[in-house]
Amino acid sequence: DAANPKLKAIDVSLLTTTTTTTPKDTIPHNQLIFGRNFTDHMLSLEWTASEGWLAPRITPYQNLSLDPATCVLHYAFEAFEGMKAYKDRNGDVRLFRPEMNMARLNKSVARIALPTFDGAAMIELIKRFCRLDERFIPSARGYSLYLRPNMIGTQRTLGVGPPGSALLYLIASPVGPYYPTGFKAISLEATTYAVRAWPGGVGASKLGANYAPCIVPQMQAASRGFQQNLWLFEDVDEASGKKEEWVTEVGTMNLFACIRDKASGQPELVTAPLDGTILEGVVRDSILALARERLVPEGWKVSERRFHMREVCEAAEEGRLMEVFGSGTAAVVSPVRSIGYRGKLVSCGLPEDREVGEVTLKMKDWIEGIQYGEEAGHPWSWKV
Ligand code: PMP
Repeated sequence: DAANPKLKAIDVSLLTTTTTTTPKDTIPHNQLIFGRNFTDHMLSLEWTASEGWLAPRITPYQNLSLDPATCVLHYAFEAFEGMKAYKDRNGDVRLFRPEMNMARLNKSVARIALPTFDGAAMIELIKRFCRLDERFIPSARGYSLYLRPNMIGTQRTLGVGPPGSALLYLIASPVGPYYPTGFKAISLEATTYAVRAWPGGVGASKLGANYAPCIVPQMQAASRGFQQNLWLFEDVDEASGKKEEWVTEVGTMNLFACIRDKASGQPELVTAPLDGTILEGVVRDSILALARERLVPEGWKVSERRFHMREVCEAAEEGRLMEVFGSGTAAVVSPVRSIGYRGKLVSCGLPEDREVGEVTLKMKDWIEGIQYGEEAGHPWSWKV
């Protein structure tokens, strides 16, 4: 721990493994439901403010035992990650840019006074965990083992203060493709009566406390027939001095739009900037990097900039909105057909008989190609 050199860092060599005596049956591929079934084991690391990180343990998957006064249960000292392990054609297990998830978790936990940790040591532990529970990783393209690292404050106290103890643990759930029968374009409802995050807030941190308040607007969008809600943020446009509703992100995805420039006709891939109000998605970053490498030479512009609903509506009306998609670990990309916004239905450029746009599909193919090790030797794919 950088803050206190006397505290112990994670020591991978101290790992103890207790394997289960009651191994679970694996679930047939076609019966997997996201986040319902878990593997045989879990990885746990305890931390105390006086000692630092204690010996890592792999144990059978089991309940936690927490005193009712444990601080996480009262003041939401909790941050998490979402990442996946993939099995490639040769049967090798792979992680996708795991260092980014560890860096993001460290940023998240630091924001809520939980202890930071050595990300490289944690990745080594995750690799060992994946090897042990490898039989749960389905081996078809689109299937994977969802990994959920989670950190909670475990001090038994109702005092509001920095937790004196914490638990970092990881559980894993085999998952199928987000769209088992091929892409289905979704409709979003732009939420205009609530905001997810704000400048100076914690929208860029993956805190459990950011998620629970999002469910009611999500349910209300669903009650009107929309699959997800789109989070906007109203703020003055410095260029015009007028208030605008800026596009931020979707439920658990970042959002991209492909817009053709009014004057030059140049296509632009645009997503909101990392201004602290949106989650710094690993897939978002990957899409931007691939677009700069592979779309810019074809004449595309790639932008991380603020864009507002008026710009999206205008582009749609003028036939310049080419496609819109969400990005995230769960689905990789998710095509958007339309956005319900202040009583209008904004059509996002997909022909009625198509479920996915060209750029969306390219991104899925490129990223899955790397995740499943088909693009040989790519630095984003880490063999376990
Ligand atoms: N935004 C939010 C709010 C999310 O929960 C997620 C999922 N982690 C994302 C965006 C996408 O992030 P990633 O690409 O790292 O999965």
